[in-house]
Amino acid sequence: MNAPAPNIMRFAAPIRRLPEAVSNRIAAGEVVERPASAVKELVENAIDAGATRIEIAKADGGKSLIRVSDDGCGIPQDQLALALERHATSKIDDEDLVDIRHFGFRGEALPSIGSVSRLTITSRVAGADGWQVAVAAGVLSAPRPASRAHGTTVEVRDLFYATPARLKFLRTDRAEAQAIGEVIRRLAMASPAVSFTLTDVTEPAQPRKLFSVTGAQGDLFDQRAARAAEILGTGFAENAVPVEAERDGLTLSGQIGLPTFSRGAAVAQHITVNGRPVRDKLLLGAVRAAYMDVLSRDRYPVVALHLTCPPERVDVNVHPAKAEVRFRESGTVRGLIISAIRHALAGAGHRSTTTISDAALGAFQPGDHAPRPVPARTGWSAQGEAYATRPSWGAYPSAPAIDAAATAQAPAGFAEADWTSARGVPGATDALPEGAPLGAARAQVHENYIIAQTADGIVLVDQHAAHERLVYEKLKAQSVATGVARQGLLIPEIVELGTDAGRLLDHAEALAEMGLLIEPFGPGAVAVREVPAILGQTDPAALLRDVADEIADLGTADGLRGRIDAILSRMACHGSVRSGRRMTADEMNALLREIEATPNSNTCNHGRPTWVRLGLDDIEKLFGRR
Ligand code: ADP
Ligand code: MG
Repeated sequence: MNAPAPNIMRFAAPIRRLPEAVSNRIAAGEVVERPASAVKELVENAIDAGATRIEIAKADGGKSLIRVSDDGCGIPQDQLALALERHATSKIDDEDLVDIRHFGFRGEALPSIGSVSRLTITSRVAGADGWQVAVAAGVLSAPRPASRAHGTTVEVRDLFYATPARLKFLRTDRAEAQAIGEVIRRLAMASPAVSFTLTDVTEPAQPRKLFSVTGAQGDLFDQRAARAAEILGTGFAENAVPVEAERDGLTLSGQIGLPTFSRGAAVAQHITVNGRPVRDKLLLGAVRAAYMDVLSRDRYPVVALHLTCPPERVDVNVHPAKAEVRFRESGTVRGLIISAIRHALAGAGHRSTTTISDAALGAFQPGDHAPRPVPARTGWSAQGEAYATRPSWGAYPSAPAIDAAATAQAPAGFAEADWTSARGVPGATDALPEGAPLGAARAQVHENYIIAQTADGIVLVDQHAAHERLVYEKLKAQSVATGVARQGLLIPEIVELGTDAGRLLDHAEALAEMGLLIEPFGPGAVAVREVPAILGQTDPAALLRDVADEIADLGTADGLRGRIDAILSRMACHGSVRSGRRMTADEMNALLREIEATPNSNTCNHGRPTWVRLGLDDIEKLFGRR
């Protein structure tokens, strides 16, 4: 109870300079947090050295061994010891702090790692002899000759053995190994011309190759595309759209996945800034905002994006591991990313994810437990089991028969969106419409799916999902054109928000434009006077809290636009044609034409596809005709 606070000095102690080994160890605490950070530093050094092949070996999650070998320029014998000295670097001159051509510039990695482990560097410059130096817990041994091809191998054994406190905080071998894999994938994505291999040598007699990519050919765009396909899978190549945009001297280039090709976590989001892989909040937030419209909150897009920026407009020296960067014009960067991604997605036109079509195709395989309206077994049983379970498609009623049954009442939600009335579109029995990728409606099944015939296959449309998207896009267009109409509350609602109140009031003006009129009401509270009319009866407190969260999350009024969009999206869902309603041929065709004409309409507001296609080749494959 009476123990003195540890940070109060009782006696003035003399000020001393820290011994180098100690200051290195302190630096190591920042630069090398875990085995993966040591791997990152060593691989970056190899890339900086101009390597074309980098081989990484690790044992026990990198705790007992990390070895990085490269075929780069090597370190001359007389500089080996210097490389291990703090603040000694070959990558900087006296004037500019950061040479953008290199990853390194602090001159801290090797001395830091050497101060907490047993480190050996073996290196040879072309045309000279090879040399080796070793350092253990910061104590250097004299260089000795060693033979090897040109390049450098850095071996780190027993990382953190000299700092037991840090050792205790390491995670399981498995978790550390995963982090190493992640670091290598990110660096490999940023340096597509370099070959990388990662091998686990925990069992020295049975090395396991975990990762291997080969230096890609072609121009930079092609190299990056090839590397993205290697790392994110060929599925990415098939389900991605290119991004190329430029604004005020900043350029963004790369590929982004279609919303239907999303993931459950942010693991497949690769962003580089001037060639450095980064995990930067501003950039990731902009990607998220760009997809907000087409992806639900728990899904993450797959992206491989490369931002190039004049070096004087970005500071990469704000984070010891250089994962975060600071831009001079962060608004421009954010705007560039959002508009480029949205533009690319809108331009993706009528593409649906191949993986989903593939999955559906799998479901079409014979042997599925599909209900069979008229089992056509007669004469088939002799052909064997597989054929006997195949449904007979000819048994479905033809399209005109369905039309006759489906001429009933048009529900309110549908009338509002104005494609109920026939607008000269061909009926189900007419020829295929010209230049209409979604073809002509032939039938509606299970009161939610439209089957349309296209020039080279069939298209299956989820009418509810598609309609929801169309209503949403209309609402958005209205709100942009004329502003969101407000509706006054009879009695202003007082909402207690605590510290969020200030944040909301900071954006009061922008909120008013989006239909939400608020005023300060004493400390920590806000009075709501008007809400967006479009919402009808709504709970102002819940709405306000959601908006406050959104602002906290995104940090700008941009989020409010997104917030309104999210609200519009939810409304669209309620105002849409539910599944379970029969549609006439004209209605169905009008819906198809509307999908074709509406941006983003190939996915619903939650990122699910609104339609899938099955090519004639695929159909023929199903029946063994190909
Ligand atoms: P930095 O990378 O910030 O310069 P490091 O401590 O990582 O600092 O490396 C110190 C120096 O050692 C580098 O500037 C470079 O000259 C040399 N070096 C390190 N690794 C390699 C390598 N794999 N190949 C060639 N030179 C290297
Ligand atoms: Mg370095």
